[in-house]
Amino acid sequence: MSYQVVVLEDDPGIATELTEALDLSGFEARSFGSLARIREHLSHHEAHLLLIDLGLPDGSGLDLLREVRSRSDVGIIVVSGINDEAERVAAIELGADDYLTKPFSIRELIARVRRLLNRSGNTAFTLTRHQLERRDVYRFHNYCLDTASMLLRSSECN
Ligand code: CA
Repeated sequence: MSYQVVVLEDDPGIATELTEALDLSGFEARSFGSLARIREHLSHHEAHLLLIDLGLPDGSGLDLLREVRSRSDVGIIVVSGINDEAERVAAIELGADDYLTKPFSIRELIARVRRLLNRSGNTAFTLTRHQLERRDVYRFHNYCLDTASMLLRSSECN
């Protein structure tokens, strides 16, 4: 089984360079250019490591970082063109495992990816699984929906 590395990067040139280098290094890499698209992917697929850009068309990568970290210890490397100390400190405080500033060396990035995967092992992450484990119960009218069992009942949920 190879590790799934999911890349959030809106610059198509950098995204291609990253996924090609990761594929050549034996990982399975997929890239997405917006927060909406990576969230959609992560709700259906596993990830073993995330590479997150900060400046995106629909927001900041810090939002995804916060979201994922509140549910999982999956490896996260922030790869950003913003050479800004405040952004870097925020990313580390929100739980990024590593931080690289563009332009970066591909060999260095791969070495950091390998090191992080060796450390965190094969713990995979999906948004779906963790959301279901959290078990939300929604009540409306005379029905309730239990997200753990995905059962809709016309009586009370326990
Ligand atoms: Ca960007």
